[in-house]
Amino acid sequence: AEPTTARDTALFDLIAQEAERQRLGLELIASENFTSAAVREAQGSIVTNKYAEGYPGKRWYGGCEVVDRIEQLAIDRVRELFGAAWANVQPHSGSSANLAVYNALIEPGSVVLGMDLSHGGHLTHGNPVNFSGLRYQIVSYKVNPDTELIDMDEVRRLAHEHQPKMIIAGASAYSRTIDFAAFREIADEVGAILFADIAHIAGLIAAGVHPNALPHAHVVASTTHKTLRGPRGGIILSNDPELGAKIDRAVFPGYQGGPLEHVIAAKAVAFGECLTDEFKAYAAQIIRNAQALAQAFEDKGYRVVSGGTDNHLFVLDLRPQGLNGTKATRLLDANHITISKSTLPYDTEKILHGGGIRIGTPAVTTRGMTEADMQTVADLIDRALKGQDVKAEVHAFAGGFPIP
Ligand code: PLP
Repeated sequence: AEPTTARDTALFDLIAQEAERQRLGLELIASENFTSAAVREAQGSIVTNKYAEGYPGKRWYGGCEVVDRIEQLAIDRVRELFGAAWANVQPHSGSSANLAVYNALIEPGSVVLGMDLSHGGHLTHGNPVNFSGLRYQIVSYKVNPDTELIDMDEVRRLAHEHQPKMIIAGASAYSRTIDFAAFREIADEVGAILFADIAHIAGLIAAGVHPNALPHAHVVASTTHKTLRGPRGGIILSNDPELGAKIDRAVFPGYQGGPLEHVIAAKAVAFGECLTDEFKAYAAQIIRNAQALAQAFEDKGYRVVSGGTDNHLFVLDLRPQGLNGTKATRLLDANHITISKSTLPYDTEKILHGGGIRIGTPAVTTRGMTEADMQTVADLIDRALKGQDVKAEVHAFAGGFPIP
């Protein structure tokens, strides 16, 4: 019989194929990135063997003296990064971080004001098939039809009309600076909790190239795997230790058991990386690349939603090209260019397809691309959308940039 220690070729061959796909493809999904070898080493380490229900110093299991220090290091670093009085680094994902915030702070049936999904919001901000839409009364704000920017007057009007218990500021496909101070002002007018979901822009905030949400929001949640460039996971931050204590209980024992201490170890490594000057330069380059790429598309006659970007992403309206999100994804995928399809504000396409695509620069910036390379990226995408076969050019171009 096969020795049980034999390498699992069926699986590891697939990982090798995935590595090759990542190396030769052009990765423009706004929520993806390439982690450092150190992040992957921590996540792939023996720390995965340890159970540690509870929090540092208060565990239900023995032998937690080392993982206590690992988790504390992650907490200390993320607090320093965002200037937070309190942090929880245990949520398994961005969505589960958000679930803990809802569970801890508002009752089922409460009114919640969040950004409309088709205007850039996230599933957990009130989609009818998500826990948020199923369990809470959701009111959605949209962007202004002319400017395609969040309309703070409209947010204020809806807040006064519906008296939400919680207002969510944050998005998955919004290319402009979010005014957290203005959101807080409105939250205070109606006595609502301001919850900032910074999943997409956390790395930009950490680097100081987007205004911080924390001085304004009562609670902040994020993923750790997008612009923060860490392992897949979630975090929750607050400057109010009382809210923090409620959220700690909502995470454990509320709905999670043992934390993923190996992932928390990798989060600690990523937060350490985010504290460096190198990361600050990286985050600034992400934005310069997104702006150069959006401009390159406008120069080619494409329509960029809201006319540009302040952050790491933008949405292209492809209806004038006779395309939609599904058709464009198919054309680009065939050329190993990965993006995500996107609905547009006031979209005329079916939601299933979406009228456009969302393009982000965090991953290509990690590979070392700069503004000049964005011209090439726009050119390859433009030609692929016109039906040309550019796969070999994509491989040659992308393959020239190293992956950590
Ligand atoms: N919040 C926002 C704004 C997001 O964009 C995302 C991910 O796309 C999430 C939360 C959820 O993160 P996860 O996919 O880790 O559950």
